[in-house]
Amino acid sequence: RIVEVESVSFEEDNNEVNLRPSSWDDYIGQEKIKRNLKVFIEASRKRNEALDHILFYGPPGLGKTTISYLISNEMDTNIKITAGPMIEKSGDLAAILTNLEEGDILFIDEIHRLSPAVEEILYPAMEDYRLDIIIGSGPAAQTVKIDLPRFTLIGATTRAGMLSNPLRERFGMHFRMQFYNHEELAKIIQIASTKLNKYCQNDAAEEISRRSRGTPRVALRLLRRVRDFAEVENEDEIHLKRCKYALDELGVNESGFDEMDINLLELLVSNKGKPMGLSTMAAALSEDEGTIEDAIEPYLLANGFIERTARGRIASIKTYEMFRLSYPNSGKL
Ligand code: ADP
Repeated sequence: RIVEVESVSFEEDNNEVNLRPSSWDDYIGQEKIKRNLKVFIEASRKRNEALDHILFYGPPGLGKTTISYLISNEMDTNIKITAGPMIEKSGDLAAILTNLEEGDILFIDEIHRLSPAVEEILYPAMEDYRLDIIIGSGPAAQTVKIDLPRFTLIGATTRAGMLSNPLRERFGMHFRMQFYNHEELAKIIQIASTKLNKYCQNDAAEEISRRSRGTPRVALRLLRRVRDFAEVENEDEIHLKRCKYALDELGVNESGFDEMDINLLELLVSNKGKPMGLSTMAAALSEDEGTIEDAIEPYLLANGFIERTARGRIASIKTYEMFRLSYPNSGKL
């Protein structure tokens, strides 16, 4: 009898939403953003106005969606969630906009993927809370204007650079999400572990946080997997020994790199100090250029493992040291 065994999935768990913080206090880190937002929320509440439109940008899994939920909580308004690729036609967006209520938040994930025609609809909607619909065509075409409720658009994107200028300029607030430090991630892990009923001891939480690429989504995913190992061993809490064992079994590198990071770094190192262009890297790694730029590179750049030059990417001294190789520019390699 052949039994198909599902391989360990590293994709986001369906029920991860349970671990989303529901209060500002549980939303760890991003202090500057939180401080600013609290002021703007307070001010708009005092004036009894809708909050200005907000753009969050940064790599996936850093909490853009989560903070948007918190804003809607704080403003005591509804939040409608959609994503750029889901809005195909301008009519789709018009339908969403006309269904909003006063003060509602519309969250559009991957907002850089809206088509130009759909974007055009957004401009007057964002600026004047107005929908301009063209009826008919040719000389008989007419524009009908429909008033919209005052709403707040929250856009999230992994690539601020891919947003068109007119769209970017219509957001009153721009926030760049930062990678989390180890202490912040350890806190996130401990709060989540309590929710999962399997308390994660301090040193174990620190161990997971060191291997999470500065990203809460990764930390929570690893926590769940480690918890499974503890569960099977009938352990009530997650302790360091089991945690290390589980992470090693899962093949998570000690410095927090996953397989793709290592492949990318090895590729750059093999180029012996010569810069490599994005398209060459994408071809060599069989990976999409966008994924490399949005999801893989930012962490490596932020931590100084790679550098971007005008002619492409190079591995930094830090990377050569990690692989115990001498830096090519020193002439030893
Ligand atoms: P993004 O929208 O940027 O891709 P999400 O908001 O979906 O990221 O966050 C991914 C997961 O990480 C969420 O399930 C959430 O529980 C957790 N998370 C993100 N940021 C934080 C934070 N600052 N504090 C606690 N948990 C967080």
